Amino acid sequence: QRLRQELNALRSDANKDRLTGLLNRAALEDYLAAATDGCVAMVDVDHFKTVNDTHGHGVGDRVLKAVASALADACAPHVVGRWGGEEFVVLFERSDLVAAQAKVDQARSVLAGKRLRLRENDKPLGSVTFSAGVAARRGRLPEDWISAADELLYRAKAQGRNQVVAERALVDVAAAVAR
Ligand code: GH3
Ligand code: MG
Ligand code: MG
Repeated sequence: QRLRQELNALRSDANKDRLTGLLNRAALEDYLAAATDGCVAMVDVDHFKTVNDTHGHGVGDRVLKAVASALADACAPHVVGRWGGEEFVVLFERSDLVAAQAKVDQARSVLAGKRLRLRENDKPLGSVTFSAGVAARRGRLPEDWISAADELLYRAKAQGRNQVVAERALVDVAAAVAR
């Protein structure tokens, strides 16, 4: 029984990101490979290098934890994980683009409204924002699905950051073609 408990604990450690407690990339890749529908969001913190450069890595790490909990709170029970560095992925199974975008945008808005302060002098950190891209699966391979979300993320960055850009729904595309 004890060995089984230890094995289960090790298995769960192997799936987790140490800093945020979210799923790690390997676990996300397993979920993505198993998903047959829904949407994926790729999230990237805005100007994160400036946070590190101005306040140091420790504050940067705290910011990553704040991003992680904003996403987990707004997107639960969907699969939320850290893709790497300051990038996060949310997998919305059985959700359409509108629903997925709304949840990620909710996380964005809660985070942006938080008044984070520096521990040493209680000075405000300024608002932390992220940009995100949301893509539907549409029969894509997992890596192409992630790339599609990544492209939309870069559109969100180029359009001024602090926003969530979703792929156009196929019904909208069809309506535009018919017009
Ligand atoms: P953009 O708005 O275009 O995304 O700008 P950015 O500054 O966020 O982008 P960039 O890719 O230049 O910076 C990412 C930074 O994330 C650089 C790296 O030092 C930092 N970083 C990656 N992983 C960690 C981590 O685990 N902890 C901390 N504190 N910083 C990290
Ligand atoms: Mg990045
Ligand atoms: Mg960034």
